[in-house]
Amino acid sequence: MQFEGTTYRPPVEADTMLLQVTVGCAHNRCTYCNMYDDVIFRIITPDQIEQDLIEARQNFPEAKRIFLVNGDAFVLSANRQKKITQQIAEYFPECKTITMYASIQNIISKSDDDLKELKKWLLKFMVLMVLIIQMKLLQRLSVSKLILNCQNWVYAW
Ligand code: SF4
Repeated sequence: MQFEGTTYRPPVEADTMLLQVTVGCAHNRCTYCNMYDDVIFRIITPDQIEQDLIEARQNFPEAKRIFLVNGDAFVLSANRQKKITQQIAEYFPECKTITMYASIQNIISKSDDDLKELKKWLLKFMVLMVLIIQMKLLQRLSVSKLILNCQNWVYAW
C-alpha cells in the first residue's frame, strides 16, 4: 500500500486498517497545527485506492473497521465518499465501520440528505470525535453560534 506524507491516526484506531484517500489537509491553515505542512493536498485516485485495497486484502484477512487518512478526509464530496465505500465493500465485505477525520467545514458543506445517505454507508464516529475535540477548544476561544449549532447536530447524529 502506498502512503504519502506523515500519517496520524487517533489512539482509538491503533489496530484499525488504514486506507489513504487524500494527501495532507485541504484546509491546512489552523494556527495550532503543522502536521501537514510538508505536503501539498491532493486526492488519491480511485485506481490507486483500488490497488491499495487489493494489496491490503492480502495482508488483512479481516477488517471490520477501516480508517481513511489523511488530515480532513471528509473534505471529499459525498459522491466520492460513496465510491470509496463501494470499493471497500467489494474488497472488505465484512467491514462494518469506516471512520476518518473531519472538520466542521467538511460537514456543514454537505447537505442533510448527503449526510443521511453517508451514514447509511457506514461512515461514522471519527467525524463526531474530532468535532467534539474541536468544540472544546473553540468554546474556550469563544466560538460562534454556527459552531454551537453544529455541536447540537453532532450530538443528534
Ligand atoms: S483541519 Fe486539522 S489537520 Fe488540517 S490544519 Fe486544521 S487541525 Fe491540522
